[in-house]
Amino acid sequence: MMKALIFSMCAAGLVFGSLFSDDSSEKAQEKMIIILLGPPGSGKGTQAKKVAGELGIPHISTGDLFRENLKQGTDLGKRVKEFLDSGRLVPDAIVVDMLEDRVSKPDCLKGYVLDGFPRSIPQAEALDRLLASTGSYKVINLQVADQTIIERIEGRESCPSCGAVYNKYSSPSKKGALCEKCGTELVQRSDDKKEVVEERLRQYYSQTEPLIGFYEKKGKLVHIDGREDPQIVFKEIMQAISEKK
Ligand code: ADP
Ligand code: ZN
Repeated sequence: MMKALIFSMCAAGLVFGSLFSDDSSEKAQEKMIIILLGPPGSGKGTQAKKVAGELGIPHISTGDLFRENLKQGTDLGKRVKEFLDSGRLVPDAIVVDMLEDRVSKPDCLKGYVLDGFPRSIPQAEALDRLLASTGSYKVINLQVADQTIIERIEGRESCPSCGAVYNKYSSPSKKGALCEKCGTELVQRSDDKKEVVEERLRQYYSQTEPLIGFYEKKGKLVHIDGREDPQIVFKEIMQAISEKK
């Protein structure tokens, strides 16, 4: 009896739910998936963190996930080390597996911000298959010139303990060589050395840049000038996200 009652209440809820749901409430339930594209050093990581914080959804950086695995010495970490050290892209199958695993966690139910994925056409196609049931996403392309990129990366320092990112030229830590937030000594990422940066840029132009055309054709892409002050870039990204397309 109780069971039947609960069942009919649910059924009524479903009927009323669909009768009364207008466009806006359906939109509100939609998963929010934001993809940040851009060359290394374009500010993707910094912006992805802020956007995810603002929207209350997780920030998923494939580079951070790989570095975490390297640090923990996992099997995955061992398999990707040579690629990270040389600045080459990790093979698609490895990245796609790791990403699928990550986005199936419960904290991703409302959506997520992707930073560093997809980085090749096969990865973008894998993502489309993965999202087929979920629907929409928006792609933000951060545009920055090569010269700026090299300066930014060369000056980049990060906190190995809390993950905060600084730049010794444009946004230094107020505590000098120590993290302003937690006091840990800042480090330069080993792949931020000049030769490795150059290889990362080559990989970007050959494998990742074609994604701009891929997403443009789908009408998913918004270009944002990544040379502006980070606060301004952030405002422009938030505005682009809130605009319906
Ligand atoms: P950045 O965007 O500053 O170049 P990331 O932290 O995003 O750096 O990535 C660091 C490295 O991790 C890359 O050079 C590459 O070796 C590997 N990597 C990260 N994401 C991917 C991906 N989607 N596909 C292949 N390799 C990746
Ligand atoms: Zn810190």
